[in-house]
Amino acid sequence: MADIYKNYINGEWVDSSSGETFENRNPANHDEVVGIFPKSTQEDADRAIAAAKEAQAKWRLVPAPERGKIMRKVGDLMVQRKEELARLMTREMGKVINETRGDVQEGIDTAYYAEGESRRLFAEAAPSELPNKWAFTTRLPIGVAGIITPWNFPVAIPTWKMFPAITCGNAVVFKPATDTPACGGKLVEIMTEAGVPKGVVNIVYGSGRTVGMRLVEHPDVRAISFTGSSDIGKIINAKGGQQLKRISLELGGKNAQLVMDDANLELALDGVLWGAFGTTGQRCTATSRLLLHKDIHDKFVEMLVERVNKLKLGNGLDESVEVGPLVNEAQQKTIDEYCSIGKEEGAEMVCGGKIPDDPELAKGWFYKPTVFINVKRTMRIFQEEIFGPVLSISKINSFEEGVEHLNDSVYGLSSSIYTQDINNAFRAIRDFQAGITYVNGPTIGAECHFPFGGVKETGNGHREGGWTVYDFFTEWKTIYVDFSGKLQRAQIDNY
Ligand code: NAD
Ligand code: MN
Repeated sequence: MADIYKNYINGEWVDSSSGETFENRNPANHDEVVGIFPKSTQEDADRAIAAAKEAQAKWRLVPAPERGKIMRKVGDLMVQRKEELARLMTREMGKVINETRGDVQEGIDTAYYAEGESRRLFAEAAPSELPNKWAFTTRLPIGVAGIITPWNFPVAIPTWKMFPAITCGNAVVFKPATDTPACGGKLVEIMTEAGVPKGVVNIVYGSGRTVGMRLVEHPDVRAISFTGSSDIGKIINAKGGQQLKRISLELGGKNAQLVMDDANLELALDGVLWGAFGTTGQRCTATSRLLLHKDIHDKFVEMLVERVNKLKLGNGLDESVEVGPLVNEAQQKTIDEYCSIGKEEGAEMVCGGKIPDDPELAKGWFYKPTVFINVKRTMRIFQEEIFGPVLSISKINSFEEGVEHLNDSVYGLSSSIYTQDINNAFRAIRDFQAGITYVNGPTIGAECHFPFGGVKETGNGHREGGWTVYDFFTEWKTIYVDFSGKLQRAQIDNY
């Protein structure tokens, strides 16, 4: 029996005003319905926004460290329910149980980090240029924030956004991806249990076009935090920009790992297997391009293909499975299309490239891990985000050519270099056009207390994670206190 979920608006679990619902199925077994969810309308979103606005007027007055204590409680409850959440996540979007445990852990870390930040939220003071006058700054909440998230990190990404937003004194309306609504609902349930007051957190299920766009267009939502595709990010930026909203965008990636001739090849191999095929390649930081120095190219490809062919596909609840299904049928089609495109463009497919014929996998949206070699920079499989288990390999002649290849992308999220040469490692740190660079590690593996985000079309300059996201969710206020008892005119009376 599928569970029935409701919106959470102003402290109550409620159906959509449309009375309509949508269902969510297990991508490893599409006969299994995971849950049934309200298909919400603009009016539902409007009610949630109104509730958030009203609640925020009081929430802003609660001392930040008190808000932080609730975050600690959220973290404690997530620890208790970690396994339950992880299992639900695997059923809901397919990634293997070890990774879904990691996803929940990232949320736990983010909750505890929020408690810490609630006692910091540092602001600065400096001397005034006039006598008997003080000048300092403080940080205040923005108001209502709209939270719009993708399906690939169904707990972690919403926590990256909601926990700092709420800790800073904002109220949120959260619209999770339609592929992972259940995880979003459980997370909100935990937040309410931990004591986040009514109206401060609201969840409204439904489509991006209806509910998501309403958050972007409603004048009472002053900040939007969005993670998803670059195409949708551009629409949101344009629409929200008309009202001069604060908008944080975390978008696509086409991340590369560069392996130099002096690299530890075993290490580089473990890295690329995890980077390219973890989460079935459906990570914004997934390794989608591999740049191999010519002197190790042939050997490395041979080592890699042997390991890729051994990766075990299946239902992610089975602890021995390494690669789960794709999130849905459309994604499976897209991956298959990209494999055809790669072949037509003249790249050579050395493994994978099809839907597995194993009858045990017939009820899921599986795809064989795929590797292309001889990939040229002009090819679509080199340039476009595929978001699946497809790795494009190019041969490079030098470090400089590797940097050029790596930077030849509209995106700039994560990057990696494997080398023993400290000079090349530091050059990579300086020259890779990416928000994140790993040295002797794969392109994935961000930690919650560091800034996360990318350059170029991966975002619009904001960073999630760490202390930086607390800047996004607060407004600076500058305060001047004149205790001279007379009018003192800055720039005039002191010159
Ligand atoms: P998506 O852009 O299709 O959807 C993301 C969210 O936006 C969903 O909740 C969706 O319902 C909503 N949405 C869709 N249209 C909308 C509209 N017109 N107005 C408002 N909201 C709308 O992305 P997806 O398929 O869910 O996720 C995959 C994409 O997300 C990939 O491109 C991936 O790179 C990116 N991603 C980026 C990061 C990062 O941090 N950079 C992390 C994870 C995923
Ligand atoms: Mn699903």
